[in-house]
Amino acid sequence: MEIKSINPYNGKVLNTYTELSDKQLFQKLEKSSKAFEKWRKVPLKERASLMKNAGQVLRDNVEEYAKMITLEMGKPIKESRAEVNKCAWVCDYYAENAEAFLADEMIKTDAQKSFVHKEPIGTVLAIMPWNFPFWQVFRFAAPTLTAGNVGLLKHASNVLGCSKKIEEVFKKAGFPKDVFQSLIVNHDKIEKIIENDIVKAVTLTGSEKAGSAVAQISGKHIKKSLLELGGSNAFIVWDDADIDKTVATALTARMLNCGQSCIAAKRFILMEGIYDEFVEKFTKGVIELKSGDPMEEETKIGPLAREDLADELQKQVQASIKKGAKLILGGKQNGAYHEPTILGNVKPGMPAFDEETFGPLAAMIKVKTIEEAFRLSEQSKFGLGVTVCTSNIEKALEYVGAVSDGAYFINELVKSDPRLPFGGQKRSGYGRELAKDGMMEFVNRKTVYVK
Ligand code: NAP
Repeated sequence: MEIKSINPYNGKVLNTYTELSDKQLFQKLEKSSKAFEKWRKVPLKERASLMKNAGQVLRDNVEEYAKMITLEMGKPIKESRAEVNKCAWVCDYYAENAEAFLADEMIKTDAQKSFVHKEPIGTVLAIMPWNFPFWQVFRFAAPTLTAGNVGLLKHASNVLGCSKKIEEVFKKAGFPKDVFQSLIVNHDKIEKIIENDIVKAVTLTGSEKAGSAVAQISGKHIKKSLLELGGSNAFIVWDDADIDKTVATALTARMLNCGQSCIAAKRFILMEGIYDEFVEKFTKGVIELKSGDPMEEETKIGPLAREDLADELQKQVQASIKKGAKLILGGKQNGAYHEPTILGNVKPGMPAFDEETFGPLAAMIKVKTIEEAFRLSEQSKFGLGVTVCTSNIEKALEYVGAVSDGAYFINELVKSDPRLPFGGQKRSGYGRELAKDGMMEFVNRKTVYVK
């Protein structure tokens, strides 16, 4: 079968990829297994140094890789460059910290000596989405490969050019052959791959639907899975917040990547004292964001990554309006382009509140009290992260326990950072990426005991 990569800005076919046959797929799995036997024996210092090289390759070729991202999924070019540079950062981070993370941990017991020793587990399959087509892959690959595992990437079918470029990064960095392989396969091959003995674990970033399917398959075969799924983050603004600064943060929190981010702020929960001022200033800010060709430097809002994603967002906008939401700005769709849209008077029961909205749609929700704000924030099946904006940081810290999400940010958008663990609760998935936690997900933490 052929898989086409299409530029969402102009609908032109960028490239056509041929899916691997079952035989070719099996050969790749075999190669992965062989590569692991050698790679695990490479001294950690050397593995870390190769990861450092990967960071340098990314920096040296930032224009080429950024262009591929923008062409395939429509992200504004400046954001694509930032994404590639962030990948270089995560490579450096694990190159510099792997030794400390993987060191034996001595534990005092009644033994003469007891400790936890960490070893790689083998081939890890990564099923990745298109929205940050480089970043999602590197945040898996940097810790996992440095720990001595080998990786197989099944990337989203609209970013196979990125998938190939990522494979090239590791090759150019000097990694031994087959330590990281890109698989050109449709997702209907996933079960075949996971059930194979060579594959030891799987990590998926994507939708709930895909996450549930992969968790079922890996559960059936008793293999570890890590899921990073959707989100509908609340962005809570208290009456005492600095509104100008908060609006600037809110604009990035919602409109970065044309709104196609799992951790984007999607529900703006505003205290009634600042509701009007916030909405007015936020609306002004959105009007100033330039829409257009994502390859142009000044563009802030490009197309969505595929036309069907814009169709879906449009349905959510219309259904929310039908249920009583007020259209404040935008609301129209043209092919893969969806106008940045603001809805007021949003309430539970509307898609803009209940569902993940994966595009430039901001839902404004008015509340009377801080308790009501947290209650509504919690009223979501997702649990990636929450932002609270206030000038009273001490008071905001008292509410850390009020949210069940994986992250709580004060006066900042929820964002990922190689040094901090990242992951969700509830239907946003399980497991943690980044930091030491991310590296520990795919190692055998072996207990050693000497009587
Ligand atoms: P998606 O449709 O779930 O695709 C993600 C990956 O899963 C793709 O490689 C896809 O392959 C594969 N896939 C789809 N259905 C599958 C199935 N039934 N079995 C196995 N694999 C399957 O998601 P998307 O539309 O690309 O990405 C958007 C979603 O990802 C949003 O919900 C977003 O919130 C979430 N996301 C979460 C995070 C996080 O860190 N929590 C980060 C980014 C995105 P094909 O392309 O071949 O279908």
